[in-house]
Amino acid sequence: MNKRVIPIKAGSLILPSSTGPLDEAPVDTLGRPIRDLRISVTDRCNFRCNYCMPKTVFNRDFKFMPHDSLLTFEEIERVARLFVDQGVEKLRITGGEPLMRKHLERLIEKLARLPVELTLTTNGSLLARKAQSFKDAGLQRVTVSLDALDDPTFRKMNDVDFPVAEVLAGIEAAAGVGLPVKINMVVKRGVNDQAILPVVRHFKGSGHIVRFIEYMDVGSSLGWKMDEVVPSREIVDLINAELPIEPANPNYRGEVARRWRFKDGSGEIGVISSVTEAFCSSCTRLRLSPEGSLYTCLFAQGGHDIRQLLRGGADDETITRAIQGIWQQRGDRYSEIRTADTAAARKVEMHYIGG
Ligand code: SAM
Ligand code: SF4
Ligand code: SF4
Repeated sequence: MNKRVIPIKAGSLILPSSTGPLDEAPVDTLGRPIRDLRISVTDRCNFRCNYCMPKTVFNRDFKFMPHDSLLTFEEIERVARLFVDQGVEKLRITGGEPLMRKHLERLIEKLARLPVELTLTTNGSLLARKAQSFKDAGLQRVTVSLDALDDPTFRKMNDVDFPVAEVLAGIEAAAGVGLPVKINMVVKRGVNDQAILPVVRHFKGSGHIVRFIEYMDVGSSLGWKMDEVVPSREIVDLINAELPIEPANPNYRGEVARRWRFKDGSGEIGVISSVTEAFCSSCTRLRLSPEGSLYTCLFAQGGHDIRQLLRGGADDETITRAIQGIWQQRGDRYSEIRTADTAAARKVEMHYIGG
């Protein structure tokens, strides 16, 4: 344990607590600061993407979290504010499907008052009717997940027979109200790899950056296999053979996506190589679950419950010390040390803490 961290007792819960100056932003055991907080507002989703919430597990019998166990918007705002005081520069609202949470625009309005970049990741299915209210509430950008353009493949990926046209309408609506849009596509070999080029062709020149994400072994429900991963290198080569691209410099240190721009100047794409080229050494991300647990890694086996502090009357200093203590103890580098055994281990589910 870091020598500046002591345990504190909060109700029945033991959390780490920092002892140093409160206004000194923490770094973890590998020297990484905390910059990016992902806030999952619900564990529910109207899709059943086979790489995230396979129907075999997330079926009618699956028990989602009861509403009163979720952090309220006021609680989320408080946690986010304390994180911003500790160096967080970017907040991303995610889920589950964040638009399943009622009145999400009210949370956006609260978070938009903080001096940070505020973004949202969504499957886009409900975006068309919400884009204007999100923009008005102060959302700055949106990322829409889209795994194919052709309807049969798209319906197969979401596994609830949802038509791609409605997601495309959501993307148009967001762009129409002035929200910059990025597209995320998870690629699974033999399932949607044939959809890569059509997606690139469709968005080339549109101003929307498409990012290809390697299929990851998140959670414990997927039966993930390495040979289902399409390495980013292969995706880059495939695109380059038809539409020449060249590497572009990162926008900032620690950017997760590697940027490639079209040589004809018509925009760029990105690849997120979480499996084949791990980027743990620059990982500054922390995740807050819908029930108020903090996870220091996407592949964590456990979280730190701070809801008990929030609901037990803890003051800002106590919560800040817990946040600092949790971060100062962090040594996560899962993707750098992934093996077949770690891939099979029990980990937190993606729909619970967001991507
Ligand atoms: N429901 C929203 C959506 O789909 O955009 C937000 C939550 S989702 C968990 C966040 C991101 O994680 C999505 O872009 C999704 O494609 C990605 N994701 C989910 N499971 C994944 C996996 N096994 N490997 C790689 N990315 C995954
Ligand atoms: Fe739902 Fe997003 Fe997971 Fe798909 S990736 S099941 S849309 S939470
Ligand atoms: Fe960060 Fe964990 Fe992903 Fe590594 S594996 S980049 S530490 S979230």
